[in-house]
Amino acid sequence: MDDFAELCERLKEERVRLNGELEQLEAAMRPSGERREGSPFGKREEEATEAFELEKSLALEKRLSQVLAEVERALEKFEAGTYGVCDLCGQQIEPARLEALPQASLCLECKARQTKNAGSKSAR
Ligand SMILES: [Zn+2]
Repeated sequence: MDDFAELCERLKEERVRLNGELEQLEAAMRPSGERREGSPFGKREEEATEAFELEKSLALEKRLSQVLAEVERALEKFEAGTYGVCDLCGQQIEPARLEALPQASLCLECKARQTKNAGSKSAR
């Protein structure tokens, strides 16, 4: 299916972009102790802000890594020739879905089922 060649390109670009963002994020999270010594005043507040920033960065890093893993998984499927096939039921994933989310590895039905299972069990 050559239709997927463009999606493959998009995934590769996405991988480069995500790797870049993760790198930047990791660089920003590195201990920055030597940047400013000798500021005894307001240090506590600074640390609190830093902790908060770090938490935000960690959450963002987690999300980026997750997307990156999905993108890499999709690229693996390209190599294996199974791109566009649902991981769970083996059906073709809807083209419109792949267009919107090239790293999708589940069809809409399986995704919906998975989301439901992962979510509130009491909702019936
Ligand atoms: Zn499926």
